[in-house]
Amino acid sequence: MAIRIIVREGDEILRKKCRPVEKFDQKLWQLLDDMAETMHAADGVGLAGPQVGMLRRVVVMDVGDGVIEMINPEIVSTDGEQEGPEGCLSCPGEQWMVKRPMHAVARALDRHGNQIQVEGEGLLARCICHEIDHLDGILFKDKGTPIVED
Ligand code: ZN
Repeated sequence: MAIRIIVREGDEILRKKCRPVEKFDQKLWQLLDDMAETMHAADGVGLAGPQVGMLRRVVVMDVGDGVIEMINPEIVSTDGEQEGPEGCLSCPGEQWMVKRPMHAVARALDRHGNQIQVEGEGLLARCICHEIDHLDGILFKDKGTPIVED
């Protein structure tokens, strides 16, 4: 495993649409392992392909219950609403208020290409939506407002 460099806001790769993964091979597993290690080292709860310079539809998340991997994920349903501070490893030190669903369900593939369903409440729902947005070049700031300190 290896820690990869996290792309910062301003790099145009974060604004591109990612391609689906087609090969579930050693190279993909290496990427997923590296992404999880990079996310943990940076103290983050989620990381998407473009954030490590890969325009592929891959996401890793860990909100404290272990690593969840999603390949080619799609949101299939959302429910409720939450508004709270959100950050991003590509925008270190910044927090914005962002509205997200309280509950989100995504359909994805695992690292072997098997169909999985990932269901999240609260922070995990926020994370699922934030990371899938990254795959379409959308950043949390597009949906939020800056938190002004007084
Ligand atoms: Zn992010």
